[in-house]
Amino acid sequence: MIELLPDREKQIVRKGGDSDATTEIACGKASTAGAVSQRACVFCGSRVVLYPVADALHVVHGPIGCAAYTWDIRGSQSSGPQLYRHSFSTDLQEMDVIYGGEKKLEAALLELIEHHQPKAAFIYSTCIVGIIGDDVSAVCKRVAAKTGIPVLGVHSEGFKGTKKDGYKAACEALYKLVGTGDTSSISPHSINILGEFNLAGEAWIIRDYYKRLGIEVVSTLTGDGRVDDIRRSHGAKLNLVQCSGSMTYLAKMMERDHGIPFKRVSYFGIEDMSAALYEAAKFFKDDPTIMARAQELVREEVATIYPELQRFKQKLIGKKAAIYVGGSFKAFSLVRILRMLGMETAVVGSQTGDKDDYRQLQEICDPGTIIVDDANPLELAKFCLEKDVDLFIGGVKERPIAYKLGIGFCDHNHERKEPLAGYVGMVNFAKEVYASVASPVWQFAPRRANRAAVLARLANDPDFKPAPKGCGNCLPECTPGDGQFVRATLVPA
Ligand code: SF4
Repeated sequence: MIELLPDREKQIVRKGGDSDATTEIACGKASTAGAVSQRACVFCGSRVVLYPVADALHVVHGPIGCAAYTWDIRGSQSSGPQLYRHSFSTDLQEMDVIYGGEKKLEAALLELIEHHQPKAAFIYSTCIVGIIGDDVSAVCKRVAAKTGIPVLGVHSEGFKGTKKDGYKAACEALYKLVGTGDTSSISPHSINILGEFNLAGEAWIIRDYYKRLGIEVVSTLTGDGRVDDIRRSHGAKLNLVQCSGSMTYLAKMMERDHGIPFKRVSYFGIEDMSAALYEAAKFFKDDPTIMARAQELVREEVATIYPELQRFKQKLIGKKAAIYVGGSFKAFSLVRILRMLGMETAVVGSQTGDKDDYRQLQEICDPGTIIVDDANPLELAKFCLEKDVDLFIGGVKERPIAYKLGIGFCDHNHERKEPLAGYVGMVNFAKEVYASVASPVWQFAPRRANRAAVLARLANDPDFKPAPKGCGNCLPECTPGDGQFVRATLVPA
């Protein structure tokens, strides 16, 4: 029996339940103390956004643990420089905490910039830097003057808010680059792709689609990102924002100061991917050939993947999934994709969703779906068991929860090595969902196994033998002293 903390109750809604009719979900607030939130800290929020800028130097000003925690945190690919994959840290120690870490930071930056010749440097402030009060901006200014490159402080002290504040700090740092490059050669049909981080090469797939439509992609923020592209990104005519939680703030600043409108899109699933292409084609209506090419591309791609998707759907109909992701915009796409595969979303939540996001989730989910903001492992475990889900879709921190419960898991977050965006990604996703859900291993999960049936089968399996009492090698479904079975090779001679 897992109880909910009373302070958390307002952040959970059951569609069609009492709370759904009367209450708006509480969200966008600091995590409840003691709840052990799944959320990352402010620093981590900024690190995941900026990390894919491949030709920049990334220096974590803080104790080594902050750098280790976020080292190579994304499966983000680069088509060139690999500098971004290093995790440089000032490794603050006790004496630095007492006397200040500014000198150490300045010395580290000068040495690193001389050695690596980056196009720009991002300096991340962590909790302890906020506590001791190092003037990171002053150090950045001095080093920029000495080296001639942009040295950008990221004000991301871990304790000062939620992960969303980290996104904002990252956008503020990026915005110092925007507007400083030459835009003279940019096409009138041009876009920036915001909130796409090139996990497993996804940005390359998306960029290629737009190229086939005849649209120039000026800059991708930040997947496979380049400082020079970001500097001229204000020359694009439209911003397409995918991970809206992380990048809407930047898009709004670019709209305010450079007059670039933005649209929210998603590249996950057939519906959303196609809508993202049509959105750009509609915007450039002065050239009707762009829309014609978009229609042709969608027709071709969908015709290629549809038969395979139908094959997976037949195996997945009626299965249930739980989704827990960083930004809720991804959750919308996942609910739609699962429905297309014949599956039901029984639990869905995010670390950083706002009221509008949750309202939209309530609209698109089926009755009975549990919607949760800023969850913790115990809540997620409770809801997965209650709904008896077949699959958990999440990130690195959700994987052990799923496996401990004996539930299939699909990684839709930082570390994955397989593209799940675009049309090709839709097939990869369906394949992965099918492989996870249909794996025969789950029949042995304690909560699922029919113990009598398993023991009867083991009794007839030559690979297994009755275990001597107390041998310590018994399978999880065996009760000590009650007809235990072990692998034959483990029975002592
Ligand atoms: S910034 Fe603070 S909360 Fe974040 S990893 Fe470092 S010490 Fe932990």
